[in-house]
Amino acid sequence: GREWHLVARPDGWPTPEDFALREVPVEAPTAGRILVRNLYFSVDPYMRGRMNDVKSYVPPFQLDAPMDGGAVGEVIASEAEGFAVGDHVLHGLGWREYANLPAKHAKKVDGSLAPLSAYLGVLGMPGLTAYAGLLDVASFKPGDAVFVSGAAGAVGSEVGQIARLKGASRVIGSAGSDEKVKLLVDEYGFDAAFNYKNGPVAEQLKEAAPDGIDVYFDNVGGDHLEAALGRLNQFGRVALCGAIAQYNDKGAPTGPRNLALAIGKRLRLQGFIVGDHSDLQPQFVDEVSGWVRSGELKYNETFVEGIDNGVEGFLGMLRGENTGKMIIDLSR
Ligand code: NDP
Repeated sequence: GREWHLVARPDGWPTPEDFALREVPVEAPTAGRILVRNLYFSVDPYMRGRMNDVKSYVPPFQLDAPMDGGAVGEVIASEAEGFAVGDHVLHGLGWREYANLPAKHAKKVDGSLAPLSAYLGVLGMPGLTAYAGLLDVASFKPGDAVFVSGAAGAVGSEVGQIARLKGASRVIGSAGSDEKVKLLVDEYGFDAAFNYKNGPVAEQLKEAAPDGIDVYFDNVGGDHLEAALGRLNQFGRVALCGAIAQYNDKGAPTGPRNLALAIGKRLRLQGFIVGDHSDLQPQFVDEVSGWVRSGELKYNETFVEGIDNGVEGFLGMLRGENTGKMIIDLSR
């Protein structure tokens, strides 16, 4: 089976030369383990951070070793009780064709309840990030005006729709293309949206949120965060989820230069990591899968086919080539 290794630590934007696709033997599982043929694996923004050799909330990828991350696959051999050949499982050994792992690190998923890829996106880690970040971290309440950046992505598209479904007074999103902006308004039911590449974020946000905002869900950082601070109403809340605008920066990060506004406006800014919110998992799956079934919550996925295109898919995600969740498809 083939697997992607990190072979050099990127400096700024990763290049294809930082990675190698290597062939390794596929071994039969020993006691307590399963062998899985991966059908889909996830490429996520946080993986860029793991390519740096720095201490963080997840350890860095090791050089000349397989990268890992979320994946869904089919059990093809099992030495573990409760796991049979043909079962579908969600697990943490992505970036490879075959995964050999302890069964206790795998979770069975049901492809008849939702497409298997949904467990990596709308019903998976990014979905819980949206749900917990908005409802718990940002203390969303009905009547709030909510602004979310990265709004056409996996997390952002779900944040905006949960806010709408939970009674936001206004939902505003930003994204990096006119097509995505149209999708936000026409398909996801945002009240207003703008393309951050078409002009200064602060000006476009002011136009989209004439009465200000109460919650900012930050996926981007930089000028987006600065613009949001300028637009937040008194006692506004910010969920600091990600800062993708600076993940590939080499120099000093930009802004926000207006943080002192938080004092007079009595703002609360809180960073969070989805892993700390697993208590909300059952409630999240229950509520969101209901909205998905009823068609009230829509989601997109962008599939890149074949293990050979794994790194290209990851880089494409960082460049904004995805609408909704970016997924590497090994099922064909
Ligand atoms: P997305 O599906 O949103 O994909 C990333 C998107 O980021 C791209 O599609 C692109 O869209 C946008 N983007 C790239 N560069 C820039 C830029 N310079 N400025 C603005 N937007 C940019 O990814 P996810 O939904 O998986 O993740 C979204 C955010 O949430 C990330 O910041 C991620 O790190 C964070 N996150 C945090 C978690 C936590 O526990 N705190 C857990 C999961 C995710 P566009 O075309 O609009 O530019």
